[in-house]
Amino acid sequence: MNNSKIWLSSPHMGGSEQKFVNEAFDTNWVAPLGPNVNGLEEDLEKYLGEESFVGALSSGTAAIHLGLIALDVKAEDEVICQTMTFSASANPIMYQGATPVFVDSENETWNMCPLALEEAIVDRISKGKKPKAIIAVHLYGMPYKVEEIRTIADKYQIPILEDSAEALGSSYKGQRCGTFGDIGILSFNGNKIITTSGGGAIVAKTKEQKDKIVFLSTQARDNAPHYQHSEVGYNYRMSNICAGIGRGQMEVLDKHVGLRRSMHDFYVSICSEIRGITVFKEPSADYFSNHWLSAVLIDPSITKGNKTREDFRLYLEFLNIESRPLWKPMHLQPIFAKCPYYGQRIAEELFENGLCLPSGSNLTSEDRDRLKEAFHKFF
Ligand SMILES: *Cc1c(COP(=O)(O)O)cnc(C)c1O
Repeated sequence: MNNSKIWLSSPHMGGSEQKFVNEAFDTNWVAPLGPNVNGLEEDLEKYLGEESFVGALSSGTAAIHLGLIALDVKAEDEVICQTMTFSASANPIMYQGATPVFVDSENETWNMCPLALEEAIVDRISKGKKPKAIIAVHLYGMPYKVEEIRTIADKYQIPILEDSAEALGSSYKGQRCGTFGDIGILSFNGNKIITTSGGGAIVAKTKEQKDKIVFLSTQARDNAPHYQHSEVGYNYRMSNICAGIGRGQMEVLDKHVGLRRSMHDFYVSICSEIRGITVFKEPSADYFSNHWLSAVLIDPSITKGNKTREDFRLYLEFLNIESRPLWKPMHLQPIFAKCPYYGQRIAEELFENGLCLPSGSNLTSEDRDRLKEAFHKFF
């Protein structure tokens, strides 16, 4: 029997990536600028629509960092952040010497709870500090409650930094994720829906905003023949080689979204027959998730033999199948333990019972057979 490793999410090349990379070599554009960088930005702008201005950067984390700088986040400021997320959503707040204020999730999209958000804003304002920005995340590709979060942000006039690192290809009411924030960010890390081996992007609302961020990402060099600097600069621009991979990946993005969504459907069909497992689904037809990762909740009070998600994770590991608990909430992380937190225990309960399953667009029918057998044998 084939026992090769089944990964949670691994890079999946479409075919023309190498052509773009070879062009970069042939023309000696082996630099953090060049035709692939511009080409990838144009591809993304077309894909996202909504008057987007995209700047390709070295990572999604770099994009969040520069996004916060563009929103004027400075030392001693406070920034609201969804607690249930990857640490890269919150770390750039610390780079700025600011303080994250964490907010719980709701049960439908697993993303920022609008009620807890408003509670946090009101309380921080009453303590004399109005939050400078709100970092909202589309976890696992599922759009957050776009309208509710926007209404609250506008009511208190706080800008949204939309962390769409996991949600390229997702949409809400037909509008693409990445375009809902005052600034959006994307990631092209190796495990994301498309990859540039490592990379990210900022999605700005105006050309001036994009130009400013690209300026900061290339060492903030003033317009002078010598090296002159009036601001702190960063080395965060994407290279023309990486952007070449990205251009090839853009050709297969929609196909890969379709394949990830079919993995989700596959888990829905398997789990429909098993007691105590629910697959994470879109709450209504307004939501379209790229299902970057398929995830399930395992309720040990209902499963046969009271099996937990950790029991299942270990069983899958034994079968050489990678799975992973959901993101551990940030307010439970040692590094963020002293930061304020608003909400109940929704994110904590999701973390206790949730498991991400192999979701790659490159899984074979043999992989699916192994997964199906694992579910049926275990439960
Ligand atoms: C991957 C990820 C990031 C960071 O992106 P990198 O390109 O890996 O730096 C940020 N936020 C979320 C939610 C992510 O999943």
